[in-house]
Amino acid sequence: MIRFERATKVYPDGTKAVHTMDLEIKKGEFFVFIGPSGCGKTTTMKMINRLIDASDGNVFIQGKNVQDYEIHELRWNIGYVLQQIALFPHMTIEENIAVVPELKKWKSDRIRNRVDELLEMVGLDPDTYRSRKPSELSGGQQQRIGVVRALAADPDIILMDEPFSALDPISREKLQNDIADLQKRIKKTIVFVTHDMQEALALGDRVAIMKDGELIQVDTPNGLIQNPANDFVKEFIGSRAVPERRVRQAKIGELSYAFQPVPAEFPDLPINHDASVQEAIERLKGKPALAVEKNGAIMGVITSEGMMEYLAGQLGMEEVR
Ligand code: ADP
Repeated sequence: MIRFERATKVYPDGTKAVHTMDLEIKKGEFFVFIGPSGCGKTTTMKMINRLIDASDGNVFIQGKNVQDYEIHELRWNIGYVLQQIALFPHMTIEENIAVVPELKKWKSDRIRNRVDELLEMVGLDPDTYRSRKPSELSGGQQQRIGVVRALAADPDIILMDEPFSALDPISREKLQNDIADLQKRIKKTIVFVTHDMQEALALGDRVAIMKDGELIQVDTPNGLIQNPANDFVKEFIGSRAVPERRVRQAKIGELSYAFQPVPAEFPDLPINHDASVQEAIERLKGKPALAVEKNGAIMGVITSEGMMEYLAGQLGMEEVR
């Protein structure tokens, strides 16, 4: 289904993130990448939907090189789930779920039925939740929406990048169970990134353990436990849940390319450049823009539209307005 053939990613600054990776992920498989922070999991995953292009080697989906797909066809047919941060804060739940069906120009009746079906699938009453904004849902409910949004246009492949790591342990376990059940029913190919060994062993049909951009061992959970390839794997499995809960929350200052010049009058308190994007989204609620400050100087302002574009870019859905 998904085949990496000597896939390599060297970033422009020379960082070697993924080295000559050979791997085949099967149709209908729940495949998990795990490894320490910075080992190349996200880079590997993003080479599948071309949010990142391999610098050498190839990635194939159903025998066709990802480079040969039309980019929209590729992105829209691969569901993508990030941490809860990725819901569009200014859109309703229905609009959030309908993003890809809208881009694919489905008829409105079909979209509405699909939204209802998906909300019911994850136990949220459509009449109650359809018109709410993400901020009116709990973290666990928001992440359910993130998951069903990725399923909305019925893609064959779903990529999930640490989808549950920002949740409290109870919601996390509930969603892990939900996603495991869901996959049994809908039989999608799921590629899942985590740094939590417990999660990897619980969910994966197979688990790939990565270190320094390389695959150390790819095996079933039982295979890993019974025949760890080396001490690194043994230790990694022994640690079960890796204690470091790295939440991949970009800092607002990193979005400076999206900043607008500051208007002469700017009454609101600026946000510090080190604050998270999540916090900036909270502060932007009901406002057109927010100033960003670094060492006492204003770097620029981030507008609501700028924020939406950033979130859309993160998801490979640049057409969202
Ligand atoms: P993981 O998901 O396992 O934490 P990543 O794939 O995010 O790892 O990163 C792998 C390596 O590539 C890390 O050393 C990281 O710092 C580096 N890296 C990620 N994105 C970029 C980038 N845009 N430019 C340069 N280096 C990057």
